[in-house]
This record gives sequence, C-alpha cells and structure tokens, in this order.
Amino acid sequence: MATTFNVPAAVVVGEGALAELPAQVRRLGAQRVLLVTDRFFATNGLAARVVGLLTEAGIASDVFDEVQPDPTDVTVRAGVARYRAVGADLLVALGGGSPIDAAKAIAMLATNAEPLSQYMGYHKVARPGAPLIAIPTTAGTGSEVTKVSVITDTGRDVKMMMLDVHLLPTVAIVDYELSMSMPRDLTAHVGVDTLTHGIEAYVSRKATPMTDPLALSCIRLVATHLPTACAEPGNREARAGMSLAAVHGGMAFANSSVCLVHGMSRPIGALFHVPHGLSNAVLLPAVTRFSLPGAPTRYAAIARAMGFATDGHSDASAGAGLVAGLVSLNETLGVPRLGACRGMDRARFDALVQKMAQDALASGSPANNPVVPTAEEIVRLYHEAW
Ligand code: NAD
Repeated sequence: MATTFNVPAAVVVGEGALAELPAQVRRLGAQRVLLVTDRFFATNGLAARVVGLLTEAGIASDVFDEVQPDPTDVTVRAGVARYRAVGADLLVALGGGSPIDAAKAIAMLATNAEPLSQYMGYHKVARPGAPLIAIPTTAGTGSEVTKVSVITDTGRDVKMMMLDVHLLPTVAIVDYELSMSMPRDLTAHVGVDTLTHGIEAYVSRKATPMTDPLALSCIRLVATHLPTACAEPGNREARAGMSLAAVHGGMAFANSSVCLVHGMSRPIGALFHVPHGLSNAVLLPAVTRFSLPGAPTRYAAIARAMGFATDGHSDASAGAGLVAGLVSLNETLGVPRLGACRGMDRARFDALVQKMAQDALASGSPANNPVVPTAEEIVRLYHEAW
C-alpha cells in the first residue's frame, strides 16, 4: 500500500541555526512577522533576541506572548485577532510545543473558517494556512516538524488533536542551544515525550518503511543522551542529540501515529494540567506492558535499540527487559507515579476516570495501538499508573 510522508519544506538543524531566521523569512517573501511565544521567553531575552535579528535584517515584527502551557482555543482566537490587526503575513513560533501548536492553529485560522473545534481529528483543514517558521526551545515535542496541533477546547475540557498537512510548519529551525536553559525536570519530561514518540511511531499499526528508521533513531538517541542531558545541563553533545531525537521522533510519529500512551495522556493534561511530557512518562511503562503481546518483535527491537536486551535475548525476554528498563529510566529521571503528580486529586480522578477513558478512545490514538483497548482496560491502566 502506498503511504505519504510529510515534513517541512526546510529543516535547518544545528548549532547557530537561529541566525538563519532572517534568510528563511526573506525566502518566503514575507514583509511582517508575528512572533508567537510565551511569557517566559518574552521576559528572559530570547524573544527580544529574535526580534533583534529580524530588525537588523529590515524585517518588521510584532510579538504575541500570551501562549500558556497546553494552549487553549481562547488564546488561539486572540492570536488570530492580533495577526490580522498588525497585518502580518508570516508567523514565527518560538518556544516549546505550546507556542508552536498555538502558532499552527493561528496560521491555519488565518485562512480557514472558525470554529477551531471543527478541525479536531484527521485531515479536516480545507486550505493551506499562513506560512510558519517553528523554532523549538524544548527537546521535545517534535511539533516543529509535525502536521499536528493540540489545543484545549475550553468549552468541553478536551485536548483536541488536529492532524492535517496544512498544519505543517513551512520551515523548522532547530538550534539545540535554545534548549540548554531547560531545567532538569522539563528536560526529563519532554525527553520521555520524545521517547514515547519514537516508541509509539514504531509499534503503531500505521508504521511505514519511511517512519521505522526515524523512530528507531529517535529511540537510540534518547537512550544515549537523555540521562546525560538531565545530569549535565551544559553538555552540548547530549543537548544536540536530544534535539535531533525530537526531530526524528516528530517526523516518525506524524507520518505513522501515536497510540495509547498519547490517547490516555491528553485527558490527564486537559483535566488535571499535568505537563504533557510528564503524563506520558507516568503512563509509558504500564501501557508498554499491556501492549507487548500485540507487537512482540517490534518491542524487542526497541529493547535492543535502548540497550535493555541483546540479540541473544528472545523477543519475550527482550520485551520484559524493555518494561523493566522503562520503569528504571523513570526512577533515574525522578518521574513520580501518576497519583503523586502535582495537580492530581484522588476524588476528582475517581469521578472523572470514566470520562478520561472515553475521551482517550474518542481521540482515535488508541485504535493505532498494537493491542486496541476497551474503555474498561483504559480505566484499569489509569489505576495501574496511579
Ligand atoms: P511547553 O511549550 O508547554 O513549555 C512548558 C514550560 O517550559 C513553559 O513554561 C515554557 O516557558 C518552559 N520552557 C520551554 N522551553 C524552555 C527553555 N529552553 N528553558 C526554560 N524553560 C523553557 O512544553 P512542551 O512540553 O514543549 O509542549 C507541550 C505541549 O505540546 C502540550 O500542549 C502537548 O500536547 C503539545 N505537543 C504537541 C505535539 C505536536 O506534534 N504538535 C507533540 C507533542 C506534544
């Protein structure tokens, strides 16, 4: 069966890549940029540095810095209004997955009708959006290279996953130096998000020969570099390795899919505001154990890629080694149990867990899992992770 592989028209990767921004803006023929970012970068000097690069090159710009973690439809609407009010013709997203996802939705709504909720799901966007250059500061969601945007629908308390080629950034500029300021916990949590992209892209029912090598590369890079990036924040080789892992993981999962971990993770983010990478990390071992029987050979290959098993191990023993290895990686990284994550509350969790299972199934991601779960099994997995 033929499959399609979508990535940005240009992916600029490496030390100093940020300096390429003005040339990329010019190449796209834009006159006025709206920089979409969050309060942290508006105050720590990085947004000002980006504006300075554009100004030096004679490119006008304005800043929209209202994006919060897990961005909402309300923020996106405000961003669209700003984009129109300043007369911009190109967006630059600067930040982690939240500013990048918000900018994707703003770019899309610049040329497509509201409301945003009609685009939840797969391939629902009619027209290409405004041009977008994505500059990640985490390593990461991979959003800089994906055709996915995740925005919270505040009316329904649902994290909407939208996947469409018209959400793909035109250009990604991946400069690992921008990720070096990440604190340890953020490094760990977004790093496990990256790992989950590689693992889920590889075991997905939608995996392809184009995505498999990228997924395995992502997994290997995380196994090699994540513990060092956490232990030594100034280690450039580890930071560069994790930035590349995020790009490879993003290219892999956006053209294959994510599966049950992401399906279950989004309701935790929408309802309890646990950071996305952390909610993936707490679920990964339990969901892997549950899913092993559906793809034993693929999980064994992952175990070998991560150094948790060798060619001498049977697939069954490599799979068990993978689960044990993921539990121990979480311990090394200081990832708590779900119940110990800030924002979790037992009574609310018990009241909402059935809705969470239904929302997870409705997202479509669990249908790509090697073992497709029922709602009851999802509830059991939430309890196991608690
Ligand atoms: P984020 O963008 O939500 O940022 C989290 C916090 O970290 C913010 O306070 C931010 O200011 C701070 N931060 C970011 N970079 C930093 C740096 N270099 N130094 C110091 N602080 C920094 O975090 P994220 O995990 O990158 O993104 C999460 C969002 O991305 C979620 O909404 C998730 O659903 C979404 N996501 C999208 C995709 C996709 O393909 N579109 C994939 C995975 C996740």
